[in-house]
Amino acid sequence: MKRSLLMIYTGGTIGMKQDEKTLALCPFDISQIQEEVPDLKKFGYKIDTYQFDPLIDSSDVKPDFWVRLCKMIKKNYDSYDGFVILHGTDTMSFTASALSFMLEGLEKPVILTGSQLPIGMLRTDGKENIISSIEIAAAVAPDGHAMVPEVCIYFENQLYRGNRTTKYNAENFRAFRSANYPVMAEVGIHIKYNEALVHRPDKWGKPLKIRTKLDTNVAVLKIYPGITKQVVDAILKTKGLRAVILETFGSGNAPTGEEFISAVKSAIKRGIVVVNVTQCNAGKVDMSTYATGVSLMKAGVVSGFDGTTEATLCKLFVLLGRYSDNRLVAKGMEKSYSGEITI
Ligand code: ASP
Repeated sequence: MKRSLLMIYTGGTIGMKQDEKTLALCPFDISQIQEEVPDLKKFGYKIDTYQFDPLIDSSDVKPDFWVRLCKMIKKNYDSYDGFVILHGTDTMSFTASALSFMLEGLEKPVILTGSQLPIGMLRTDGKENIISSIEIAAAVAPDGHAMVPEVCIYFENQLYRGNRTTKYNAENFRAFRSANYPVMAEVGIHIKYNEALVHRPDKWGKPLKIRTKLDTNVAVLKIYPGITKQVVDAILKTKGLRAVILETFGSGNAPTGEEFISAVKSAIKRGIVVVNVTQCNAGKVDMSTYATGVSLMKAGVVSGFDGTTEATLCKLFVLLGRYSDNRLVAKGMEKSYSGEITI
């Protein structure tokens, strides 16, 4: 059967083309994608397109935008075998993380991609990124189901679990990294899937459930030598705050000074969920290694394990939207919902 895919264009560098008269970069019209990337016709797939209006630079992404994307996927879920989302790179890891928690029971590929150079430029990385994303979104496993039924990012020959990624390079074609989870597929002459790394449902055929209630009363507090009590208090005493991500040193360490620890303890007493995520690009939080981590653990800080800040933040948005009791949110942070942490 002919594979059918929906390509959703949200904005970002990938869709930029030079205006022939003014030479200024302006967004292209996604319905012209087959003219822009003629090789797409060779797949023989049915590729439908949808363009966001207005198109947005991904720095303007907000939770409402994720809700819109989820509703669109849900509405079209039965009509397509997979979805490709063209998105700016700046916040692509946030969107991929959010979708991975909001699309519950996903059994079809949702592949996000973008580019560092606009599609209208000669050396663009956008064309290859689109072509391979389409091929991956259409790929079928030997059991007849989708090869990668997950929210992923495809970029520069590598397929990543979306909620494990971080944008780490603003110039190189390899813009993303997944430090704590191996790449799920490598694209060369062949597309080599690492099937053991792909999550597959135990039972297929469950309906897709979307979680669209998000609560964004979360703050990120990055620890640094010399951080003042005023800064810590300003964040921890934010009105309405329900959770805070502490970006700590190394394996989850923070200053042991009484002032800092008692500010954290009092936030936890007020019911705020405090999650510990490391500032390091790779590795995990282990609060039992050093005294500096033990005091956080004793204060009731929850481990963010090896999760990224992007995934931890989006997970909190979804869990806070789901539970009004912060204790249930804290419990939920210790669970892996869509492969975002290794427990
Ligand atoms: N600022 C752009 C965006 O994120 C950059 C890009 O697309 O790569 O929308």
